[in-house]
Amino acid sequence: MSLIVMKFGGTSVGDVERIKKAAEKVVSEIQQGHKVAVVVSAMAGVTDRLEGYCSTMASQTDYSEHDAVVSAGEQVTAGLMALALQRHGYKARSWQGWQLGLHTDAFYGKARIKDIQASALRQRLEWGEVAVVAGFQGVNEEDRITTLGRGGSDTSAVALAVALKADRCDIYTDVDGVFTTDPRIVPQATKMSRVSYEEMLELASLGAKVLQERSVEMAMRFRMPVQVLSTFEDAVGSALPGTLVTEGTLDMEDKVVTGIAYSRNEAQITLVRIADKPGVAAKIFAPLARAEINVDMIVQTASRDDGSTDLSFTIAREDHDRAFSVLEKEKGSIGYTKLLSLKNVAKISLVGIGMRSHAGVAAKMFETLAAKGINILVIETSEINTSVLIAEEYTELALRALHAAYGLGEEDAG
Ligand code: ASP
Ligand code: MG
Repeated sequence: MSLIVMKFGGTSVGDVERIKKAAEKVVSEIQQGHKVAVVVSAMAGVTDRLEGYCSTMASQTDYSEHDAVVSAGEQVTAGLMALALQRHGYKARSWQGWQLGLHTDAFYGKARIKDIQASALRQRLEWGEVAVVAGFQGVNEEDRITTLGRGGSDTSAVALAVALKADRCDIYTDVDGVFTTDPRIVPQATKMSRVSYEEMLELASLGAKVLQERSVEMAMRFRMPVQVLSTFEDAVGSALPGTLVTEGTLDMEDKVVTGIAYSRNEAQITLVRIADKPGVAAKIFAPLARAEINVDMIVQTASRDDGSTDLSFTIAREDHDRAFSVLEKEKGSIGYTKLLSLKNVAKISLVGIGMRSHAGVAAKMFETLAAKGINILVIETSEINTSVLIAEEYTELALRALHAAYGLGEEDAG
């Protein structure tokens, strides 16, 4: 017998019929002898609608009320799921974040979980009751409702699994699992049966939007196995039909590249002829940080004879115009001759724990891109990831070529 947390995302509970179907999956796990705590998202589209209501209020300065509104979708689903389980004759009850004792900091809209009490919930699980928890929401020290950021129900689920010392956290969603790359672009993409926490974190942060990044960080920190699986297939989690995010193993290192992530939402800014001396980088990045602009890749070219150099960095495309004007304002203090920018760039990233022990990963990537005539604008590597920035229009071509070059479509990569 295991204790399983089953999380259903927005499409899995998209309407009442789907909630009933999801409840059947819960029933099927219970009938196999497992104890289950369920975490639910709002029905698909509901959180967007609630966000929309808030943004029509002219001055939206009270973020605590924003969270009070947008957390409401999960309350509805949790109650409906409890009712759906009761139809099968099970004792089930819903738990809001505050009832559960899911405590967060006061950062409305993107609160972080501090601790989960869950003792009352655990007690009732022992008595054979099914717990249905509203994801995405918590409560802060002032007893105000907080939310955990878009996609935050994943994090609620993993946190609950950790608090309950569950054996596994199953995340039911509208895809079969985590793929070697985006199957809409590369039809040969295959579902991985396993992926390590480290790889999943890279894939999540690099733009593969299956799991909220924070949920993967938390799973990794507490070594909680998380399975991503389809809500529309018959198999339930205990049959392990999805992708298990888990501890890396030696045989996983056989593969150099596990997956390829991409992000189209990038822009690049280059400062031409800045002085190559201490303090200049700080003068560039401190004002950007003050403007809350997140900088990603950074490269500086080798110094010219006259002691000048060029510096390029990437940012999210939506931050481009703001970043550009911040740097224009700081021109006097930074001292550059020109600002160049590219708005249509994409980042392609190879991810794999096997990179730690294999040489030549980058070389093969560059050869593959060169053979397709794709120019590389920026290169960045870390222990388990090699990324390049290219013109956005080549995203599909690059993904297909790289996916084939690393043999990712040939077998289950897990
Ligand atoms: N309902 C929230 C959202 O749409 C949280 C979640 O579904 O994970 O972002
Ligand atoms: Mg989600």
